[in-house]
Amino acid sequence: MSAAARAAGRDPAAVTLVAATKTQDTARILPLIEAGQRVFGESRVQEAQAKWPALKAAHPGLELHMIGPLQTNKVRDALSLFDVIESVDRARLARKIAAEAQALGRRPRVFVQVNTGEEPQKAGIAPNEADALIALCRDELGLLVEGLMCIPPQDEEPALHFAFLREIAARNGLSGLSMGMSEDFEVAIAFGATHIRIGTALFGPRPTL
Ligand SMILES: *Cc1c(COP(=O)(O)O)cnc(C)c1O
Repeated sequence: MSAAARAAGRDPAAVTLVAATKTQDTARILPLIEAGQRVFGESRVQEAQAKWPALKAAHPGLELHMIGPLQTNKVRDALSLFDVIESVDRARLARKIAAEAQALGRRPRVFVQVNTGEEPQKAGIAPNEADALIALCRDELGLLVEGLMCIPPQDEEPALHFAFLREIAARNGLSGLSMGMSEDFEVAIAFGATHIRIGTALFGPRPTL
């Protein structure tokens, strides 16, 4: 990460490592916390609920990001546990987050997820609807929109998608860019990523279920 940032003329401290801990149990997560890692990402509310309340209670200052698709009926549980929701990708979800946040007295930080490859099976707002969703979240609902998130298609040059996400963020005045995973984080950092989400490169391959 540091080498990639310096190669791009960027401050390494401007890139946050989000350790993606899906499928990893507490025993595998603890060494990272002990080594100083503070920001973590989970993909499923239920799995996160089994691990993170205890970890957060024992280690104040941890920051948990929701990086997987979020169903509206899980929003309340998600807001009780997660500090940042990176997967806001539709108006109904944004409205639910705003309503539940108010009921809980919380002010969650959010990223809008953009389906830059317009893949039908993938989460994320369509690129041509992104500006409207950002405006809804920020201006109408008063959510703290920190930036945008994307997961590029498997078989395409990720740089094109990172550049595209950066362009959508820039025209909306957003500074946060959550992009880059184990395979492509150096490219993402070169294209301005502020958050990279890394699982495999930290933990090794996940078990295929
Ligand atoms: C699992 C996951 C990651 C991490 O992927 P790796 O390739 O293991 O680094 C990043 N982002 C999201 C949304 C994920 O679900």
